[in-house]
Amino acid sequence: MLTAWRRIPGPPRDPVKARLLRLYRALLARHGPQRWWPARTPFEVAVGAILTQHTAWAGAARAVAALAGARLVTAARLAACDLATLGALVRPAGTWRLKAQRLRDFTRWLLARFGGDFRAMRRAPLAPLRRELRAVPGLGPETADAILLYAAARPVFVADAYTRRVLARHRLLPRGVDYETARAFLEAHLPSDPALFNEFHALLVAVAKSHCRTIPLCGSCPLRFDLRGRPPARTR
Ligand code: SF4
Repeated sequence: MLTAWRRIPGPPRDPVKARLLRLYRALLARHGPQRWWPARTPFEVAVGAILTQHTAWAGAARAVAALAGARLVTAARLAACDLATLGALVRPAGTWRLKAQRLRDFTRWLLARFGGDFRAMRRAPLAPLRRELRAVPGLGPETADAILLYAAARPVFVADAYTRRVLARHRLLPRGVDYETARAFLEAHLPSDPALFNEFHALLVAVAKSHCRTIPLCGSCPLRFDLRGRPPARTR
């Protein structure tokens, strides 16, 4: 993911872009490349994105491993699997009936729309594709965008709660900002580069977990320089 950083052209003229890129470089220098998303195939990435909804990654990873052990991490095999079997396998991810149904709904959409092939998804016009994906039952904006970014390498920023918390504390976004506003802000001010979005999002999650917690640990945080001597903005 270092290549994403090196590919960013010249001195940026947009001051917000310049500031965001300074944050990115500081995070990369401190935390290093995060190498998201841990999966062998784009379909496995999408399965993981659905299974990690409202649950920690560790549980989702166990469910993905169970599906892989049953040789079900391909669209055709998963779509043909009965819901009871699927539910038993994804139980470690929690709300297993719901997640089995969501996996099957997404997989059937993927097969019907793209023949199960993510390469075709990479060529589809982005805005209508995003609308289509969000219309699949159970896929909220964050999950749909995680699939677009991490499985299909489309330039969509996953502006999750961690991202919004860090940027709101730095007064780049207003307190309580919604997902869509934050996503549009980031996409408007950053180079439209999926590798950059991938790495920057992963780094924002890393700093939110290490420093930008409920009580922020600004004193040792790599983004402290950006507060310019002010306390972080209140976010709660
Ligand atoms: S911990 Fe402080 S310096 Fe670090 S990201 Fe949060 S508000 Fe910024």
